[in-house]
Amino acid sequence: MHLSVAATCRHIAKIALAGWLALAAVALPAASTDAESTPGSLASNEQGQTLVPALERGRAGRIGRIIADPNQTCLAAGASAGAAPAQIAIDRAVGAIEASPLGAWLLRQARARRVLICLDPATELAAYYRAEIRLIGIQTGLATAAKAVFLAHELAHVLQHPGYSNNRSFPVHDLVLMHRMREATAEAIATRVLWQMRARGRPEPWEAKLRTGYRDIVRAFASAMGNAPAGGDAAAQELRATRAAFERWFAWSERLRQYDDHMLDHLERIARDRQGLIPPQRTLTDVFLRDITRYAGETFLDAGAERPLTDLHYRSGLSAENAARLARIEDASDPAGAEAGLALPKAGPDPAEQALDPAVLRD
Ligand SMILES: [Zn+2]
Repeated sequence: MHLSVAATCRHIAKIALAGWLALAAVALPAASTDAESTPGSLASNEQGQTLVPALERGRAGRIGRIIADPNQTCLAAGASAGAAPAQIAIDRAVGAIEASPLGAWLLRQARARRVLICLDPATELAAYYRAEIRLIGIQTGLATAAKAVFLAHELAHVLQHPGYSNNRSFPVHDLVLMHRMREATAEAIATRVLWQMRARGRPEPWEAKLRTGYRDIVRAFASAMGNAPAGGDAAAQELRATRAAFERWFAWSERLRQYDDHMLDHLERIARDRQGLIPPQRTLTDVFLRDITRYAGETFLDAGAERPLTDLHYRSGLSAENAARLARIEDASDPAGAEAGLALPKAGPDPAEQALDPAVLRD
């Protein structure tokens, strides 16, 4: 048994979801009852196109517990869409993202990892990535531009796993920090993808994102581009702007609170599962964390040039309630605390997650 907790990070699109749904005009695909994928088989549409790559044993069943009809509502990264409306909608979002060089690179990485992209009518989130089964879920009701907005973010998460998956051998406060790093990085990378799409005649996702709770990050990116010296190297300017977007992620206390909430829910589930928390054996280092910012061979952080990513600056901003929760979880991971039967409050149940693994968290 290894110590890695099956991957996760969760896109808290609740901030924006209500607004998106109000704008959404995408019809839900017809429900189907004959959609169970078979492990080890290929699922094909009527034209015989491969929609879902051969799924390793166990993966198809786990996906089937989340997505009711994968043959109709999912598309493997890199595959051609069939006739199903959901597949056409996914293909449209993918096609928009391909206009960005960085987005096209992310899609190639997802294809190489056989990531499955699905529309999920049941999720309360705008989108999520479940790294342990390499499943990107996008809320079915999102408008077309919004699908591209959130798909770009989830694609950025794909590269983060398993290297930066939650690992029980880290102290819990380090796991909270790593979750923040995953989210801030994915958001910064996604914003650069949207910028590149806009520059290549696909402005709708960028404009759509300006109507979400992430508009401050979009503006931080644009401001950094506007402040760049004229005639400078465009790629270097975009990397600086990506850094500005990354830094901005940490600047809004409500965003920190919401993402921390979800991570602490997750840690409380770990503390109660069969294996439970263990005494820390490793510590997060700046050297380890810095590579999370490396995409397509480039990093938006220059090594050693700034404050370390383990700095208090990135750890601070815990709400009082979350600081207390974290302290209780840390006590529970201490052998003395665990032996004393330290009671943790019950986290809000997440039936979809618990049906799979109590330690799983969505990114
Ligand atoms: Zn995320």
